[in-house]
Amino acid sequence: MKKIPEYVPGKSIDEVKRLFGLKKVVKLASNENPYGPSPKVLEVLRSFDKFHIYPSPSEMEELIERISEYLGVEGERIVIGAGIDGILENVFKMFVDPLDEVVIPIPSFPYYHTLTSVMNGKEIRVRRKGNFQIDEEAILNSITEKTKIIIVCSPNNPTGNIEDADTVRAIVESCNALVFIDEAYAEFASRDLLELSEYENVVIARTFSKAFGLANLRIGYAVMSSELKKAYMKVTTPFPVSSIAILAAIASLEDLRHMRSCVEKIRAERARLYAGLKDRVKVCPSEANFLFFESLMKASELAEELMKRGVIVRDCSKFVGCSPFSVRVSIGRREENDEFLKALDEVLRG
Ligand code: PMP
Repeated sequence: MKKIPEYVPGKSIDEVKRLFGLKKVVKLASNENPYGPSPKVLEVLRSFDKFHIYPSPSEMEELIERISEYLGVEGERIVIGAGIDGILENVFKMFVDPLDEVVIPIPSFPYYHTLTSVMNGKEIRVRRKGNFQIDEEAILNSITEKTKIIIVCSPNNPTGNIEDADTVRAIVESCNALVFIDEAYAEFASRDLLELSEYENVVIARTFSKAFGLANLRIGYAVMSSELKKAYMKVTTPFPVSSIAILAAIASLEDLRHMRSCVEKIRAERARLYAGLKDRVKVCPSEANFLFFESLMKASELAEELMKRGVIVRDCSKFVGCSPFSVRVSIGRREENDEFLKALDEVLRG
């Protein structure tokens, strides 16, 4: 059997309640939207009754049209997938043969490493600069004729920083490899990299899991050249997303006000939480819906102590390229963030 690094998701609220005998637990570990989707989504889901029928291509076409309007990009360049995870899987299937190289700036989202192993590819890890931005020169130096994919995650999970379009453009223009730009958190950021989608060797992936609050429905999309889309459609499973996911995504795009109001509240809380953390730990500025920090306590210990007090955060010490002190906390509702700050104070005071 293949040796694949295990993806370890955080503990669930129910598990932590049971484990520590707690009544109330706050989960700030998976970068979910604490406000949930638009009420219009719930309406659509309540009236759905076609569970026995496969999803229809026309539903998919309608969603593509809505995304096309949302982004200002032609529909023939948009694909829908089972979250960015599903899209990544297909893109890796298209490009990576055994021993092919995938360049991953570290630290970043762990699933890139998993997929490279699954495809029997070779991961080329390139350390980020001090501010966690990608190191253009080091990336360019790491490219060989075996390089098939270069990953750019912006805002980056777990560090929260964004990349400059010019830096990424320079990489795109100086190689034939595919540059996979993961913009799962784009809606929370001050700028994005969509302008680079015009290049033949670029895929830009987005999701309904974060700003739109649909993480459980598993739906995302990507922009790529129409040629790449044709090749993508050959490798994808016949029905990658359910009708309810598609209808929910359409309803979300019909209520952009809801999404924008969530983003606004999350950004305001992000600034408040950042200010609250600044004097206690070494925290990085963030353009996403989470903050990355290091304290003097080992992350595994800190996460465990917070968990005992009913707050789940992400211990990132096992992320490739992270230090043993790295922690990521998602931005929750105001009261959840206060619970976190209170518990953190208790733990750090010892
Ligand atoms: N990319 C990044 C950077 C992420 O943080 C996540 C979510 N954990 C994903 C992709 C997966 O997103 P989706 O729910 O759309 O599969």
